[in-house]
Amino acid sequence: MSGIVIAIDGPAGTGKSTTARAVAQRLGLAYFDTGATYRAGTLWCMREGVDLDDVDDVAAMVETMNLEMSLDPENPRVVLEDEDVTALIRTDTIALTVSKVATNLEARAVLGQWQRDVIAHERVGGFSKGRGVVVEGRDITTIIAPDADVRVLMTADEEVRVARRAGDGANAATVRDAVLGRDLTDSTVVNFLTAADGVYTLDTSDLTIDEAVQVVVRLAHEAAL
Ligand code: C5P
Repeated sequence: MSGIVIAIDGPAGTGKSTTARAVAQRLGLAYFDTGATYRAGTLWCMREGVDLDDVDDVAAMVETMNLEMSLDPENPRVVLEDEDVTALIRTDTIALTVSKVATNLEARAVLGQWQRDVIAHERVGGFSKGRGVVVEGRDITTIIAPDADVRVLMTADEEVRVARRAGDGANAATVRDAVLGRDLTDSTVVNFLTAADGVYTLDTSDLTIDEAVQVVVRLAHEAAL
């Protein structure tokens, strides 16, 4: 018996990460935030002085990256070259630059393979000891894990999404750009705004996190029947 894979995608500010993490906690699964791989790749390229517009150089640099992630939903960590960069990859500098790496199709292929390996590992072992993983990120239900047991596209009204991020305390213009600008750029290479066949659309505009979690947990139980 292999573990369950719950895949969640959708744009920024829909509650993807919080929901995915809470579902993993509730069901005793690993939590895998694939956006962190793009963020770490961006930090790595910036540190190494790579021209982020050079597609080949960026992809080659990402391939050499020594990245480790702890998939514990209680305390997810991102370690780059033995340094804990969990907080560093959340800065505005990274948020406003990450699309350069995320729209690089060669870099996506490299990181996508890394992600598939992590997911496959959690089906049989890893942090979850084979119970499975909740994985979130923009192309997860379509490109990376189209065979996931549960596939959810989280959506929410644009203004709700911006307000949620602004509520986290950041500058309003930066938030608008980080949320809407990044989605616009990212959507040139990945479709995460409409649900593919077999993907459950979960509009969180009027839902609390707990309500969203309950829906995903119900879908997981249905899939495991
Ligand atoms: O989810 P998060 O905001 O951390 O993602 C950071 C960026 O990584 C996104 O804006 C997007 O550019 C990229 N990303 C992606 N595909 C994924 C996950 C993240 O392109 N599966």
